[in-house]
Amino acid sequence: MKRIGVLTSGGDSPGMNAAIRAVVRKGIFHGLEVAGIYQGYQGLIEGKIETLEARDVGDIIQRGGTKLYSARCEAFKTEEGQLKAIEQMKKHGLEGLVVIGGDGSYQGAMALTKHGFPCVGVPGTIDNDIPGTDYTIGFDTALNTVIEAIDKIRDTATSHERTFIIEVMGRDAGDLALWAGLSGGAETILIPEDDFDLDEIIDRLEKGRKRGKRHSIIIVAEGVMNGNALADLITSKADIETRVSVLGHVQRGGSPTARDRVLGSLFGAHAVEVLLQNIGGRAVGMKNHQVVDYDMTKAFTTKHETDMSLYTLSKELSI
Ligand code: ADP
Repeated sequence: MKRIGVLTSGGDSPGMNAAIRAVVRKGIFHGLEVAGIYQGYQGLIEGKIETLEARDVGDIIQRGGTKLYSARCEAFKTEEGQLKAIEQMKKHGLEGLVVIGGDGSYQGAMALTKHGFPCVGVPGTIDNDIPGTDYTIGFDTALNTVIEAIDKIRDTATSHERTFIIEVMGRDAGDLALWAGLSGGAETILIPEDDFDLDEIIDRLEKGRKRGKRHSIIIVAEGVMNGNALADLITSKADIETRVSVLGHVQRGGSPTARDRVLGSLFGAHAVEVLLQNIGGRAVGMKNHQVVDYDMTKAFTTKHETDMSLYTLSKELSI
């Protein structure tokens, strides 16, 4: 293998730049040429492909977002789109591709691999929802953004003796809500991995108030319901006034934490090592603190497992 490509696809996440930098520089370390593909699969079909030198990925490790931009591309879901993409890659002399993105992007990468073009996946999403890896790039930064917000909301919640509902991202996974709730000291955490009991939530709020608690923080994962809907449910059943804060896309941005920069660097570098063996259809991840690679199909045919011991612990601690 002499020349490989790298792209970012789907939802962006902080730390993707560290992964791009690692792919480019690890590739160069091994004597490869590395090309960046702009705007994900859309740019691949359109041939937005440029060779990246070591200096081209300088000064990006500390930046959120992705230098290569991202996109969603419906055309790429068709075989016709995929074949066009392969044609472009052949035209630009590429022999392998690193795809940094979520499970949707992995499905695209697997399709290319099945057409004979080796791809390796790197997990980039704030949702931490990719099966086969304990962590994804961007999760830690998003988590820190959320707890910064919780801390600030807690100040005003205490001053005014209020109950706050904070809606956090995570798609169908509760990881962000759970980790943020535990580290932000939330009284109640609602995640899609468990049913919730409205009466129990209300009971907790009322008991807390009687014990002299000046505030309550409820974290709700977007995969459960939106924050306003939860507020309506609570007020329909009890005389409890709530304030809702939907954190939204701030959770996607910002300078990556050290942890996400390290993860991005480790994953990007490992992806190049895998491609160098001419192996496609693999995904890179972290399992029990070790960098691993595994069959990429696992990432979209199995279900991500949230660490439910944290959920149990959060309940035990939020008394
Ligand atoms: P993420 O990678 O963050 O999960 P998406 O699900 O939006 O984000 O996927 C990103 C892109 O990957 C899509 O816009 C599409 O181009 C490609 N993709 C998603 N699903 C498939 C699929 N089943 N087959 C081929 N390509 C896909």
